[in-house]
Amino acid sequence: MHQSTRITGLTGGGSDGWDVFLKARRMIADGIAVTELTIGEHDIRTAAPILQKMHEAAMSGHTGYAAVPGTDTLRDTVAARVQERTGVPTTRNNVVITPGGQAALFAAHMAACDPGDTALYIDPYYATYPGTLRGVGAVPRAIKTHAAEAFQPRAEDLRAQSRNATSLLINTPNNPTGVVYSDATLNMIAETCQSDDLWLISDEVYDTQVWEGRHLSPRALPEMAERTLVVGSMSKSHAMTGSRCGWIVGPEAVIANLITLATHTTYGVPGYIQDASSFALKQGAAFEAEIAAPFQRRRALAKQVLARQNTVGLVPAQGAMYLMLDIRATGMTGEAFAYDLLENHHIAVMPGESFGTSAAGHVRVAMTIEDQAFEQALNTLCSHAEKRAA
Ligand code: PMP
Repeated sequence: MHQSTRITGLTGGGSDGWDVFLKARRMIADGIAVTELTIGEHDIRTAAPILQKMHEAAMSGHTGYAAVPGTDTLRDTVAARVQERTGVPTTRNNVVITPGGQAALFAAHMAACDPGDTALYIDPYYATYPGTLRGVGAVPRAIKTHAAEAFQPRAEDLRAQSRNATSLLINTPNNPTGVVYSDATLNMIAETCQSDDLWLISDEVYDTQVWEGRHLSPRALPEMAERTLVVGSMSKSHAMTGSRCGWIVGPEAVIANLITLATHTTYGVPGYIQDASSFALKQGAAFEAEIAAPFQRRRALAKQVLARQNTVGLVPAQGAMYLMLDIRATGMTGEAFAYDLLENHHIAVMPGESFGTSAAGHVRVAMTIEDQAFEQALNTLCSHAEKRAA
């Protein structure tokens, strides 16, 4: 039977970038102890009080169909949080709750793009992006960035592609680079979106993980609220990856249509998950800082380790749970280095090439294991790179 090209074409053919990760998982299945610095998931689990709330909500009967747009309480809580943090007037009518940020990314592009429209995204990119754009029938087009400029997009690179495009997807704080976009970058992006009439889809799932600079939501820039769809999630900020709860914040008219889309696709998010998410969000910024603290600590450790050598370079790690390391001094590709490190030291990192072409010769390290083991793994990575460079 023929399967639709929409589904068979999702990955665009070739490697999907997860080969090293899968090899590490096979080694683990074969009983080999592998230090995994690959995927973006906390080494802590969802906090007990949040689970308690989830349990209570389920036991009290919130297990039927929940309101498709999201519960009033959760939409109000998200709206209040966004308004407080950005200053942009936001009500529940600007919010639709989705099964995680991933579903929000798909839905936001469904709202922005017609089939065949050009949808821009920034390279290096979170691995699912091109597939998500293809999934809605759009034609993904990458804007390259440069390691020497800490992967902040350049105006001329964006403007070379933006004239005939429909949307631009950005992510700050960034996965995979750990870079936080500067105010100047975001202003340039906002101006381009206005001059070329683009939708801006702003993936802000790491907004609580900022170590340097500040997180500026571009929806707060002049005239941007009407053309920006912000993607948010409980996954990273509250260590709730498995709960699948996220949202889109945008103009009321778009949110109304996204609610119709939800009726025809997801039919909402479980009520007990939403109750637990409302409760979690109400714990406030101090709780979010606690969840983010291990990454900040490990980033400081990494800076110390990297300062003791000069083979491996660190792209300014300003946010999120990742480090992007420059291993070009070894003369190897990121992929070759990642395989080499896995085979010789049983340490798994992601090749920069898994995230596009701009991060070639780099590897991404997720700061998602306990501090001492993390420091040790980085030391090993650096001495391995030194050996290969010699
Ligand atoms: N955006 C980025 C940049 C991510 O790294 C992730 C998860 N790794 C997501 C969106 C999706 O997260 P979730 O669906 O768990 O909210």
